[in-house]
Amino acid sequence: MQKALLVGATHIDILANTSLQFDGSVGKDLPGEFVISVGGTAFNVCVNLMGLNLDCFLVSVTKKDSLFTYLIEQTLKGLKIKHYIFHPEHAKESAFLAIRDPLDLIMAVTAQAWDSLTNQEFDEILTKITSRQFDFAVVDCNLPALYIKKLLEALYPTPLYLCATSTAKFIRFLAINMENQGFVKAFFMNEEEYSNAINLFKEFTTEKSLYFVTQGEKGVKVIEGNNITHYPPPEIEEPKSFSGAGDAFASGVIYGLQNGYSINDAVSKGFAMVIEKAKYQHSNTAVISLEKISDSFIKDKLTDTFNRNTLENDKVMLCDFSHVIVIDIDHFKKINDTYGHTAGDVVLHNIAQIIREASLPEGIACRYGGEEMIIFLREKIDDEAYNKAEKIRKMVKKALIKYKNKTIKVTMSIGVASTKSGLADIHKIIKRADENVYKAKKAGRDRVVM
Ligand code: GH3
Ligand code: MG
Ligand code: MG
Repeated sequence: MQKALLVGATHIDILANTSLQFDGSVGKDLPGEFVISVGGTAFNVCVNLMGLNLDCFLVSVTKKDSLFTYLIEQTLKGLKIKHYIFHPEHAKESAFLAIRDPLDLIMAVTAQAWDSLTNQEFDEILTKITSRQFDFAVVDCNLPALYIKKLLEALYPTPLYLCATSTAKFIRFLAINMENQGFVKAFFMNEEEYSNAINLFKEFTTEKSLYFVTQGEKGVKVIEGNNITHYPPPEIEEPKSFSGAGDAFASGVIYGLQNGYSINDAVSKGFAMVIEKAKYQHSNTAVISLEKISDSFIKDKLTDTFNRNTLENDKVMLCDFSHVIVIDIDHFKKINDTYGHTAGDVVLHNIAQIIREASLPEGIACRYGGEEMIIFLREKIDDEAYNKAEKIRKMVKKALIKYKNKTIKVTMSIGVASTKSGLADIHKIIKRADENVYKAKKAGRDRVVM
């Protein structure tokens, strides 16, 4: 069995399909539906080659203990891929967000975790890679150029396939390839990127024993030396296009070439992979529903608000909030002692719903601790933040919470603090709001201190 090394991005693909029904109402601003799945060129090729019974080893970089990494690891576990995910302390999250209108991709944003590796961290990865023997390697050209250069040199003379090549990287790698006597077997890139590159550097077209494989709407072109062969696109039933189609094609071609197929047969294998993928689009990509994520990671079950995990992993989310409101229920222990723990849970759930709804539209409520909630408020002047806190305090005080045939009433002590100094200080601001809660308790509870 051939052993393949796959190096590149593994990230969460968040595909938002915009809805035609969206009416712009506040609180209903979901742009249609989301599909969340694990993707990335290296990951996709890895899954495809595994499906063809190759022994694959995937190397990727993500940030430890992040929501994205959690989802990626869950999926990889399910697929039994042999993988090495490198977790540098300061790596960015690794997500790729694309928003589609009903017909087309309209925006794509990516955070590439590899960008934030230090040289030392990268060298550690290289050592791990070069300590093993591979029959061939597939490298995702979205990696930073310096890393790819070092990788190619370290892997020499392992045959290489370069995927997702941009115009700029194509030129650089071609130069590296010439220096190292041609061990790159094929470049995969889209039609447009290739045309740009070739217009700039015509002499590269004569490079022998190397395939440029381009993909575009009109099918596939294989360029070898001065020969250009065009293959019309295969007949595909629904869906006509889907994410990972290009990677599926590349996987088939790579498999063919590694197994001694002619280029014609390798392209046929590539098309067969695309047709197969279209049919079973979701069978290999674990689609993780938004609901499942909220259940397990983002949302707190009891209160149905964001949980502390989200706060700590997603500081980005907090950066444009101007005020923090910390809420602590008064004498909550007594409620548990008097009515029982289950009653306490019901009270907590009900209060959380009041707080959550009252926080909207400019605030996000999270469960901060046992019977503590925190609200991040956007663009509020001090007075308004105080008034918001007062309003919430009064609403909860008025609420009659039913449990069995009992009616339970509670009060809350609230601390407010303002974030004038920005993101770096978020923990200090929470601490200040916390101190104000303590002051409210000392002053007799059931009040707001700012
Ligand atoms: P204070 O007014 O000083 O805040 O008094 P308190 O009783 O609310 O504060 P204390 O910190 O002494 O007790 C908090 C209680 O909240 C103790 C704990 O059992 C209860 N609690 C925390 N989380 C939950 C939960 O999820 N469900 C229930 N039912 N109780 C909880
Ligand atoms: Mg407390
Ligand atoms: Mg309390």
